[in-house]
Amino acid sequence: MKNIYLDNNATTRLDPMVLEAMMPFLTDYYGNPSSIHDFGTPCRGALERARQQVASLLGARHDSEIIFTSCATEATSTAIHSAVALDAKRREIITTAVEHPATLEVCEHLERQGYTIHRLGVSAQGELDMAQYRALLSERVALVTVMWANNETGVLFPVREMAALAHEHGALFHCDAVQAVGKIPIVLSSCEIDMLSCSAHKIHGPKGVGCLYLKRSTRFRPLLRGGHQERGRRAGTENIAGIVGMGSACELADVHLPMMTAAVAPLRDRLQHELSQIIPSVMVMGGEQPRTPNTLNIAFEFIEGEAILLLLNHAGIAASSGSACTSGSLEPSHVMRAMSIPYTAAHGSIRFSLSRYTREKEIDGVIAALPSIVERLRTLSPYWQQGKPQATAGDFAPTYG
Ligand code: PLP
Repeated sequence: MKNIYLDNNATTRLDPMVLEAMMPFLTDYYGNPSSIHDFGTPCRGALERARQQVASLLGARHDSEIIFTSCATEATSTAIHSAVALDAKRREIITTAVEHPATLEVCEHLERQGYTIHRLGVSAQGELDMAQYRALLSERVALVTVMWANNETGVLFPVREMAALAHEHGALFHCDAVQAVGKIPIVLSSCEIDMLSCSAHKIHGPKGVGCLYLKRSTRFRPLLRGGHQERGRRAGTENIAGIVGMGSACELADVHLPMMTAAVAPLRDRLQHELSQIIPSVMVMGGEQPRTPNTLNIAFEFIEGEAILLLLNHAGIAASSGSACTSGSLEPSHVMRAMSIPYTAAHGSIRFSLSRYTREKEIDGVIAALPSIVERLRTLSPYWQQGKPQATAGDFAPTYG
């Protein structure tokens, strides 16, 4: 079977109903929502309806808590910059070592400006070090920013508990929920998270649109200043078609949410089980932790993930790997490094990420194709030839450069 798409944590296909909802706003309804004439009216109405749809998926208390942005990266950047601008005496940020670059790069930028950045470590299973977190919290912390679900492993972090702890020290809490939204239930009205980022293209919506949830009465400084759009919190003429698409994608994600646990998780579990049974020397990353229902990160020891990906691609299967080719050498990702995954395994890690569109026969296709790919690459691997024993996380000291 050709064209098996299992890279939904990277991006998802647009739901046809989302496209249908967007089309009028790419054709007939081209008005500016700020205009008071009749061209603006339908756009203004659509903008507010989309806000309701997003607020409803996130379980927000008020629609006005949703600020539309161009992507989750912008939402996260806005949240972090806002938090540090509010109180000159608070010069520390707590985050984790496994965040998306959308968070890590902003923190690094602030570090160069003199802020202290604490990066929480994780165990070999991807579990956050909560003792370290408690010890780092103080009146000097402006913001805690932690993802709800890790994009590489799907491991879920206890963000609600962490937000409550941050508040005990007067720190704000931001959550990158890009990989959690639409996969697990989220009820922001009943937790203490102050700010949260999400993105439409991870939930079968369009690219180029996201939002920042800002809990009512949370102090805030806008990143983009200019016009009065989004109640002065994010200037710039609204991407109405994109926003309508995001609203529609959120409504559909709400409808399909039960399917993620009832239908998608069993497919993921079957893929994990069968591959672990058929192929020797595999490790499931974060497999013992609570995970998003759609993500499987599995490492095939002693071979290169990029080589597996190329052969999978040749077989019509799209997935992604935990190592990135930088300056000619394959480096395991920062997530694998933070988890101290043995080098021999981190190199051969593959992420399969499913969606509500994934079908059983596609999983069958991977189970049929992958064992021979792994076997073929292992016959070429000098490490495999040396007959190294099966490794488990922690067996080897990590040897990252
Ligand atoms: N955060 C996480 C966890 C992600 O997986 C991604 C996208 O891969 C982003 C942030 C960035 O989202 P966007 O593409 O909307 O900027």
